[in-house]
Amino acid sequence: MNILLLGSGGREHALSWKLAQSRLVADGAGTLFAAPGNPGIAEHAESVKLDVTDHAQVAAFCADKGIGLVVVGPEAPLVDGLADSLRAEGVAVFGPSRAAAQLEGSKGFTKDLCERAGIPTAGYVRTTSLEQALSALDRFAAPYVLKADGLAAGKGVVIAENRADAEAALADMFDGRFGEAGAEVVIEEFMEGEEVSFFAITDGATILAFGSAQDHKRVGEGDTGPNTGGMGAYSPAPVLTPELRAQAMQRIIAPTVHTLAEDGTPYSGVLYAGLMLTEDGPKLVEYNCRFGDPECQVLMMRLQADLGDYMLACAESSLAQMERPRFAKKTALTVVMAANGYPDTPEKGGQIGQLAEAEAHGAKIFHAGTKAADGGVLMANGGRVLTVTALGETVQEAQQEAYRAVDLIDFPSGFCRRDIGWREVEREQG
Ligand code: ATP
Repeated sequence: MNILLLGSGGREHALSWKLAQSRLVADGAGTLFAAPGNPGIAEHAESVKLDVTDHAQVAAFCADKGIGLVVVGPEAPLVDGLADSLRAEGVAVFGPSRAAAQLEGSKGFTKDLCERAGIPTAGYVRTTSLEQALSALDRFAAPYVLKADGLAAGKGVVIAENRADAEAALADMFDGRFGEAGAEVVIEEFMEGEEVSFFAITDGATILAFGSAQDHKRVGEGDTGPNTGGMGAYSPAPVLTPELRAQAMQRIIAPTVHTLAEDGTPYSGVLYAGLMLTEDGPKLVEYNCRFGDPECQVLMMRLQADLGDYMLACAESSLAQMERPRFAKKTALTVVMAANGYPDTPEKGGQIGQLAEAEAHGAKIFHAGTKAADGGVLMANGGRVLTVTALGETVQEAQQEAYRAVDLIDFPSGFCRRDIGWREVEREQG
């Protein structure tokens, strides 16, 4: 079967690595295409140029190449309805419809769904004007959680420590700071607890757990400094015990999937739940309609099943026939190497070397923002550049292996955090 993977980050490099091993494409069974891909993805897939906002162009490519499955990496094309356009042309897609992708595309939509389905989450108010938002603040106490309703590349959330800061932030949001995404602002109750990511795949009816992870969003060690796309992650996250995982599945994921199906907008693809582990059990912080980056890298490192088969079963509504996917018992940990100045002003163009040496002991280096230059030279070409991923018997061992590989990489204009996984390493050390 021929497969088309859309995206160009570390997440898609990890997906291409696993998809290339799938029986659907391995040993000449088919071709894996990637648009646009990156130099790491190009080791596993044939790179093609496609404009994902031009749905007809993507559909024409699928018809021309006899694509049997399209895998959509990032959220924007899903929220934009690419899966609907392709399905209308008879192409199987791993990823939700526009209507179901609202789970990520509109925070207000998700909160309303949670309320209808009795899903545990923070109390909230949806507001569409500054006046309405300011008066709604009375119903909450500090810290105030303010969220632009739409997609804002992970930057649409403000946590204000006091009322004055909250009022200023709301004025800013309704003044267009997040563009269209901020035309509506959701105000939420603040939840105390530790955050964890939980993944499930579904065809709209059957749901299979697909691993847990914990990520580090802040740029600085000890989880300080500005937010980023993610500086590292590890999987599994032992803080999500089997009991808590069962609760999350039963009280959060299953009612979400069932409610969307009852509404006539079934969800298919991967559902990524950001959870807060509170005193009252897991509560939903947010949904994403795709794998996380870099959480995907650690999940793929542990996955011991044919990724292509599972994605196809989601796309073709035959997940009920699949067994639970197996994951290695080991821990996978990934460290993001970013360009100096990331996230505000990343330097472009630094040279990168010694990747083969760094991979010699079993680490996997997934490319994010890299570019192939003349003479086989690899250059940095973006904020997050590499995700260096390793396995270990414990989080500490996976951490040591990942940093051993990091230290062998020659990337003078890049940096990384040195403490990825610290919470769990501290717990392991008792
Ligand atoms: P991203 O895509 O980067 O995960 P986002 O913009 O979609 O983020 P959320 O995940 O909803 O937004 O919120 C970002 C962060 O803000 C969360 O990871 C969490 O740390 C914090 N947060 C959000 N909602 C709450 C809440 N109700 N109580 C406490 N903290 C919260």
